[in-house]
Amino acid sequence: MVMQDVGEPRLLIGSGASPHTYSLKPSDARALQQADVVFWVGESLETFLEKPLRTLPKNARVVQLAEAPGVTLLAYRDAGPWEAHAHGSAGPNVQTPYHNHEHSDGDAHAGADMHIWLDPANARAIVMAAATALTEADPDRAVLYRSNAERAVARLLALDEELQQTLAPLAGRPYIVFHDAYQYLEHRYGMTAVGSITVHPERQPSAQRVAAIRKKVTDGAAVCVFAEPQFEPKLVQTLIAGTKARVEVLDADGGVGVPAGPEAYPMIMRNLANALRACLDPST
Ligand SMILES: [Zn+2]
Repeated sequence: MVMQDVGEPRLLIGSGASPHTYSLKPSDARALQQADVVFWVGESLETFLEKPLRTLPKNARVVQLAEAPGVTLLAYRDAGPWEAHAHGSAGPNVQTPYHNHEHSDGDAHAGADMHIWLDPANARAIVMAAATALTEADPDRAVLYRSNAERAVARLLALDEELQQTLAPLAGRPYIVFHDAYQYLEHRYGMTAVGSITVHPERQPSAQRVAAIRKKVTDGAAVCVFAEPQFEPKLVQTLIAGTKARVEVLDADGGVGVPAGPEAYPMIMRNLANALRACLDPST
C-alpha cells in the first residue's frame, strides 16, 4: 500500500510457507544483498533472517516492525493450553502488557507474540513506519509515500470497523486455534480462544498437550478447532474425531490464495473474520 505507484517490494516468504519454518533460498540471499530497505517483524518470528541481516551492506536500512512507534506488543500465552480468562476479561482493547524478560540469547523480544499485524491498530503503526523508512531511503518521493500512507490508514480504519461488525456477534464462543497466532485479533474484537494445539508450530505438541486440548473439545468447552494451511491437518482431525466440534482454516500469514500486493492485508483479515464466523456461527 505504501509503495503503490512507486514500485513493488520483493516478498521473501511466498504462498503456502510459514515464517516459523522458512529457510532462505540463494535467490532470497541475493535479493537481500541488493535491498535498500528490508522490513521484518523481528527475530523471534523470522528467525531465518537473523544471520543474513547481519551481513547486509552498510547502507541498507533494516526496519524491525515489532519496534515501530505505536506498535503494541502482547506476551505469548505459552503456559499450558491456556484458559479462557487467563488474562482477565479480555474484551476489546484489553491488552495483556508485554514485559521483556531479558533472555540471555539477546533477543530483545523473547516472550513477545510477534503476530503483531493481526491488530489493525498495529497495522496502521506499521504503515507509518514503512512510510518513514521509505522516505528516508528515497526522499524524492516523500510526498507520494505520505499520501499513500494516509490512504492506507483510512482503509485500515474502515477495515477495523468492518471486522468489528463481523466479529462482535461471536464474542464468548470458545474455540481452539492451531498455533497461538491470533491474540492480537482476539483482544481487539473480544474473541474467546481457549487454547492452541501447538506452542511452537515448528515443533510437534506433546501428547499431554494434545490430550488437554482434546478434553476441551470432548467436554464441549470448544466448539471449533481451526487448522492452518501451512501445517499438517491430521492432528486437527484426531482432536475432533467423534465430537460435534467443527473445523475451519485460519491463515494468519495469508500466504495461501491471497495474492501479494496492496489488497493482501484486507483480504487476510477478512478471510480470518469470515472463517471465524463460518465456524462459530454456521447459521450465518
Ligand atoms: Zn505464527
